[in-house]
Amino acid sequence: DHESAQQLLGYADMALYEAKRNGRNRHEYFRPELNDAARTRRSIETDLRTALHMGQFQLHYQPIIDTRDKRISGYEALMRWEHPSKGTIMPMDFIPIAEDTGLIHEVGSRALNLACREAASWDTGQTVAVNLSPVQFKKPGLVDTVALALSDSGLEAHRLELEITESVLLENSEENIRTLRALKQLGVSISLDDFGTGYSSLGYLRSFSFDRIKIDKSFVRDMGQSREALSIIRAITGMSNSLQIKVTAEGVETQEQQAQLEAEGCSHFQGYLFGYPVSAGQRRKDLD
Ligand code: C2E
Ligand code: MG
Ligand code: MG
Repeated sequence: DHESAQQLLGYADMALYEAKRNGRNRHEYFRPELNDAARTRRSIETDLRTALHMGQFQLHYQPIIDTRDKRISGYEALMRWEHPSKGTIMPMDFIPIAEDTGLIHEVGSRALNLACREAASWDTGQTVAVNLSPVQFKKPGLVDTVALALSDSGLEAHRLELEITESVLLENSEENIRTLRALKQLGVSISLDDFGTGYSSLGYLRSFSFDRIKIDKSFVRDMGQSREALSIIRAITGMSNSLQIKVTAEGVETQEQQAQLEAEGCSHFQGYLFGYPVSAGQRRKDLD
């Protein structure tokens, strides 16, 4: 649909990129939206480099509630990019690009350092959870980065949790499990995030002793209407409880969900029902 061969090749390339992005071994046709998406991606990529220099990244903190005493046991740190002209950009719109371009290593250590520094200033002893990208496992030095974030901030290791997804265990798993063990040696906790959405192999739970499993919010959302979703939640909580792994239900928005999840044996809740992710300053005000 274009006269210039060069433009056609460019379009073909965008279709190829889209096919890879959607999980390889498939085909895609070029659509004009892909061109817009590519343009947005390029502009975000350029801006990301500036953002790192200018310190435009912030962390928002969302409370995690312990079901036993209904108190906040800790917070998950979620990245926000305060872009000078585009406003707040959410992680889904820049983390994948940071991963593709390798900038995730810098973005990720920024998140670690900031989270440890801010949490060290809380006098509550609450934990802070930081998300790690599977790409961060591809470069040696992750363990040193975490160790440095702890020593620079003075945060006690047991107050830091690292959230990983199953893909870390899927790719290069021997090496990555060694890295996970080394991280645990530092005294930090390791959580398995978004559980239930990927391969969810039970073997993963045997290959590494996770401290916490987080049930993906899609199951919590569908639990009311879907027997399948509820059964999966039941299987995860049953298994976690017998392995003595903490279970956090993500995306808890209603009291009905809370009651049911508590009955199923979840040990922790996270969701809009208990609190939205808020800036470090707002978090402090909320406590007063
Ligand atoms: P996640 O780690 O699973 O984080 C939970 C996401 O669910 C957050 O989205 C949070 O705002 C949202 N959420 C919390 N409660 C509710 C609820 O009740 N209902 C609904 N519908 N959503 C809820 P957010 O902040 O947009 O982050 C999206 C994802 O981006 C995160 O998913 C995580 O995978 C990634 N991410 C965020 N910060 C970082 C980071 O610093 N590094 C890396 N590598 N990834 C990050
Ligand atoms: Mg997470
Ligand atoms: Mg999650």
